Amino acid sequence: MQEPIQIYHSGAELAARRKAAGLKQRELAQRAGCGRSAVQYWERRSRLDPTSWAVARMAQALGWVLPARIVHHNAHARGRGLRREIAEADALAAAMFEEWKAREVQRAATRRVVCGAKTRKGTPCRCKSEPGKRRCKFHGGKSTGPRTPEGIERIREAQRRRWKAEAARAHADCRC
Ligand SMILES: [Zn+2]
Repeated sequence: MQEPIQIYHSGAELAARRKAAGLKQRELAQRAGCGRSAVQYWERRSRLDPTSWAVARMAQALGWVLPARIVHHNAHARGRGLRREIAEADALAAAMFEEWKAREVQRAATRRVVCGAKTRKGTPCRCKSEPGKRRCKFHGGKSTGPRTPEGIERIREAQRRRWKAEAARAHADCRC
C-alpha cells in the first residue's frame, strides 16, 4: 500500500488569483456570498480545504477549477495523470483570468464616473466624466494635455511651483 496523494492549493494562491482578478477581499466575499473574514481566514492558511463551502464558493467566483480533495492509493500509477489534470485546470483558470482582465481593460476605457472636480461654488461637480476619463468635458475630460513645446514647459513649471509649495508646507515646522 502506497502513500495516498493529497494535493492542496495554498491560501497564498487564492490571494494571488483574487488580485489577478482585480478584486479586493470585500469584493470577492460579495461575489462568493461569504463573509470577508472567510476570505481573510483562507488566504492566510497554508492549505485550502476544497471541501469547505467558502473555499468552493470563492474558487467558483474566481473561475478557478479547484480540484476536489484527491486521495489515490496507487500513487505511482495515477500520480502523473493527476498532476496533468491539475495543470490543465490551472491553465484553464489562468486563461479565464486573462479574458477577464482584457474585458476589464475594455470596460475601463468606456467607464464614466462622477467628475467630482471642485466647482466655483466649492461643491464637487456632479457631471459624468468623459468615457474612460476621470473628469467631465468642462473640467478637463476632453483635454489631451499640452502639445506645443511652450505648453509642455508651462505645465512643467506649474508642477515645479506646486511641489515647491508642497515642500515648503511640509517643512514649515521642522528644522531640516
Ligand atoms: Zn466636472
